[in-house]
Amino acid sequence: MSLTRRGLLAAGALLLAPPARAGDGAGLRLAIVGAGVAGSSAAFALRRLLPGASIDVFEPLPAYHACFGANQALAGWLDDGALLHRHEAIRAAGMGLRVEGVERIDLDGERPRIAGTAYDHAVIAAGISIRPPDYEGYDPAVLPPFWTAGESILPLRERIDALDDGANVVLLAPPAPYRCPPAPYERATAIAARLKARGKRGRIAILDAKSSFPKQALFEDAWRRLYPGMIEWYPVEAIGRILRLDLGAKRVETETGAFAFDLLHVVPPQRAGAVAGNSGLVDATGWVPVAGAGFRTAVSPRISAVGDACIPGDMPKSAFSARAQALLMAGTLAAEWLGRAAPPADLFNTCYSRLSADETVIVGGSYGIVDGRIKAREGFISKVGESAQQRRANRDEGAAWIAEFSRTVFEGEG
Ligand SMILES: Cc1cc2nc3c(=O)[nH]c(=O)nc-3n(C[C@H](O)[C@H](O)[C@H](O)COP(=O)(O)OP(=O)(O)OC[C@H]3O[C@@H](n4cnc5c(N)ncnc54)[C@H](O)[C@@H]3O)c2cc1C
Repeated sequence: MSLTRRGLLAAGALLLAPPARAGDGAGLRLAIVGAGVAGSSAAFALRRLLPGASIDVFEPLPAYHACFGANQALAGWLDDGALLHRHEAIRAAGMGLRVEGVERIDLDGERPRIAGTAYDHAVIAAGISIRPPDYEGYDPAVLPPFWTAGESILPLRERIDALDDGANVVLLAPPAPYRCPPAPYERATAIAARLKARGKRGRIAILDAKSSFPKQALFEDAWRRLYPGMIEWYPVEAIGRILRLDLGAKRVETETGAFAFDLLHVVPPQRAGAVAGNSGLVDATGWVPVAGAGFRTAVSPRISAVGDACIPGDMPKSAFSARAQALLMAGTLAAEWLGRAAPPADLFNTCYSRLSADETVIVGGSYGIVDGRIKAREGFISKVGESAQQRRANRDEGAAWIAEFSRTVFEGEG
């Protein structure tokens, strides 16, 4: 595992190396849409590689409230305030920070145009939006998913803390692909941990749109050992489709029956951030198809998409992946524009899932680009039955990762 993390750091350092040849990108006008993980990573990397370029970053939120770590804040294992990041470093690095959302990107001849300004290249890094589910009764304003940047998880924690002993919680898990594949199951774990820590029992039913889920054996082992009788997972084969959320009667109706709830938490189906759809960049999946290490869209070679908004191949939608993609894209485009050799197309992902105050499990892998698409190379995953010492080491590594990663992404360090 540590080899993979070291690999990422080495790859990042290589991509961010200053230009070896003459030219600093002067005259280039670049736009980044979104200052989350992918957008901030891309912006600082392009700034370093092309110090002469003019770079505008568009972001409607004055501060970024990270999703990664939110489940830990829900359980009370992490301070929610540690997940809040401001964007001052973008301005301090000499880039234009436009605190506004981009409605759409148009093409002005070959050049992408945003809010009346033509750019040489635009990068979509707008994350996800909710895809309206096909069941009745869902309103994200009433049932916020706490799944996008900018939302603190604390209102959900207050609702969990208000539950009575023995309460029924129903959690709907979405169809793939979606942001952070293990996170719905980590969220159910965090809810159980929060109830248990307050001396309450409860029953959490996960109604899944899928037949299996990531780290399944690890989660199911933890649920049996740490939260016995509290978490039950129902695959799509057991429940069929979700038909209706009846908030008045507090029931979820499925093709095979109904589940009563005291608290309903919906992780809805997802698609790329709305600006991608408005700009005609998404395909029938709702995500932006991209090709090659420049993460170029099918619509225009002058528009790239990185992070959760894109579907580049095998990589899961994670913060770790989003940054790796942004760095590779920035290194590739800068090398092209400056006439330098392209950086190696080596990508890495690591994902930590917290199971309790003491235990964390890890999954990860390395990736390359084959025929323009990201392809998995090697992977690793924690083992059921590994020692308590190993799980504590994973926990400490995961906690250090959140702090170090956030500083690197949002302060532009590293
Ligand atoms: C509960 C949970 C736990 C997670 N845990 C982990 C983890 O442990 N490890 C991990 O690697 N990943 C984790 N993730 C996933 C991670 O949060 C995302 O994969 C990551 O944030 C994706 O980065 P992004 O830049 O694509 O999107 P985001 O970080 O969401 O950034 C998108 C940005 O674009 C902005 N934007 C949107 N629309 C517009 C517009 N029209 N104009 C301008 N700006 C716009 C948004 O405001 C936002 O700031 C977790 C996610 C969740 C929900």
